[in-house]
Amino acid sequence: MKLEGGCQCGDVRYRVEGEPLHAAFCHCEDCRKSAGAPVVAWAAFKSSDFEVLRGEVAVYNSSGSAMRHFCPRCGTGLWYTNEAYLPGLVDIQIATLDDPEALPPGAHIQVAERISWMTDTTGVPEFERYPGG
Ligand SMILES: [Zn+2]
Ligand SMILES: [Zn+2]
Repeated sequence: MKLEGGCQCGDVRYRVEGEPLHAAFCHCEDCRKSAGAPVVAWAAFKSSDFEVLRGEVAVYNSSGSAMRHFCPRCGTGLWYTNEAYLPGLVDIQIATLDDPEALPPGAHIQVAERISWMTDTTGVPEFERYPGG
């Protein structure tokens, strides 16, 4: 598997090769605050399978040894490293892939911190675009 991705403005581009070690929805508060979103989908690759193709990222130390890498121009969260807990790995934000369909998450993690209304959204009405549109 060879996949490319990048931030919304296009300044930062990356490539991953090989198979992900795991892919999951993370519900922890750090991820939610960082993304400004109720959940973040991650896929972990070996650092040796990850390459930055262009651009410079900014890095924010969100807690402990957690390092969140994002585009300094458009703010897109891109990847995460943690040498204490995930040595040798890079977690990429699946939604930044050109083809996010390629890596379906296989688990929900950190559900102890999940927003309660994210537990089951199956009864929430859906609209192809906007209601009444
Ligand atoms: Zn950008
Ligand atoms: Zn998290």
